[in-house]
Amino acid sequence: MDDPVQTLTPPHVLIFPLPAQGHVNSMLKLAELLCLSDFHVTFLVSDHIHNRLLRQTNVHRRFEHYPRFRFETISDGIPTESSRSGSDFLTELIDSLRTVIKPLFRELFCSNRLSYESTRPVTCIIADGVLSFTIDVAEEMGIPIVYFRTISACAFWAYFCIPQLIESGDLPFKGIDLDVPIQSIPGMEDFLRRRDLPANCRVSDLSNKKFQFLSTETRQTPRARALILNTFDDLEGPILSHIRIHMPNIYTIGPLHAHNKPRMVVTSTSSDSLLEEDHNCMMWLDAQPSQSVIYISFGSLAMITRTQLMEFWHGVVKSGKRFLWVIRPDLVSDGGGVGQIPTELLEATMERGHVVEWAPQEEVLDHQAIGGFLTHSGWNSTLESIVAGVPMICWPYIADQQMNSRYVGEVWKLGMDMKDTCDRIVVEKMIRDLMEVRKSEFVQSTKRMAKLARKATSEGGSSHCNLDRLIKDLRLMSAGV
Ligand code: UDP
Repeated sequence: MDDPVQTLTPPHVLIFPLPAQGHVNSMLKLAELLCLSDFHVTFLVSDHIHNRLLRQTNVHRRFEHYPRFRFETISDGIPTESSRSGSDFLTELIDSLRTVIKPLFRELFCSNRLSYESTRPVTCIIADGVLSFTIDVAEEMGIPIVYFRTISACAFWAYFCIPQLIESGDLPFKGIDLDVPIQSIPGMEDFLRRRDLPANCRVSDLSNKKFQFLSTETRQTPRARALILNTFDDLEGPILSHIRIHMPNIYTIGPLHAHNKPRMVVTSTSSDSLLEEDHNCMMWLDAQPSQSVIYISFGSLAMITRTQLMEFWHGVVKSGKRFLWVIRPDLVSDGGGVGQIPTELLEATMERGHVVEWAPQEEVLDHQAIGGFLTHSGWNSTLESIVAGVPMICWPYIADQQMNSRYVGEVWKLGMDMKDTCDRIVVEKMIRDLMEVRKSEFVQSTKRMAKLARKATSEGGSSHCNLDRLIKDLRLMSAGV
């Protein structure tokens, strides 16, 4: 007999990510999974992101398979000449969210531009969990809204607990010692230090714009009907039970990119990169021995100084390991890029290194030549490393990354946390430890977690079942049930 929920008219879901690589990546993956269930999906992105997607990816070709999918664009209100990277990007965005994006978002609904073929209006919104103005608009329009927070559950929980941190006197920090234990976040009492809190907590003035934004946005989460997280129960179960006290309906459906493989036909060569991927590095990797290469990438937003670049370079070269390094054109904040590198480093690089401006990261991490990942601990990169079973050296830059790296090093034991140090001797030692001295320990722990991640997204696994539940609930919501 037909499942009555399946026979309901397909929902029309509007998906709206914050305009940044990591957010767009995971929300596009969810969009594709919903398309596979025959949903109408409108993916709302900034003009800037849309142009990048058109130029650099095969997203449009990929989504041609789904006639019920379409892109809609909106201005991000940021001047064209802005680099949209570094830690100032969020500050620019916070201003325009209220003044530009919110009115445009409301206007989209009023203008009826979002009705699908003029017959199917938006029946549900899935919005990035830091865009609370979407809840205001959804409430005005009477449309159900579900939040998707693209960070880890542990980072989400830390942001959520900021009022407790203030009440207990943990924030703002008194003095400069970053090793002081933090005991006011339930579930993290045994291992959290000041330095592990989201980087935005390192402010002396609590009226700081980014700090206030992340704290108040996170506290508004319970206004949404439910919360989607790109994580899985075996990874973050204990923290999820704390979050459920405030948000009983959570869909843990991650790692999203791991679902795609078994569920999707067309994604094996797909990419959502906003920069052009250099595929030559795959050929270079093919020529390297198994688990011999350390992959180095700091994601799409992080910026480092020239001095830091040199410390990393000396450390990597001195470790004697082969390396594949992503150096984006705008990675080095005070200019210089790969120019003017000392000859000794260049020679070593030519011998056993390969540098690209942007890599097909998921493919790289899956390559048998990769034996370690020096990462900025962005949540997508962390999940991609977990699924590929690659141990990490974490060098977090901003926001949630400080929390992710503490969990990687201290809780999940999937690598080492190098936060707040950038010294060639430490870099060299950590690479040697990861890939030589403590290699067997990390091979064991990463293999185990990779297996759990794959189990979660396979038929009958927790994330697989939660995704099915989400699809069913979206159908019911759209039918007004
Ligand atoms: N990425 C990529 N190629 C690169 C570097 C990064 O495709 O050379 C992708 C990576 O696979 C991940 C995303 O960019 O999906 C970065 O997201 P993450 O959350 O790790 O960090 P963010 O860029 O948001 O700081």
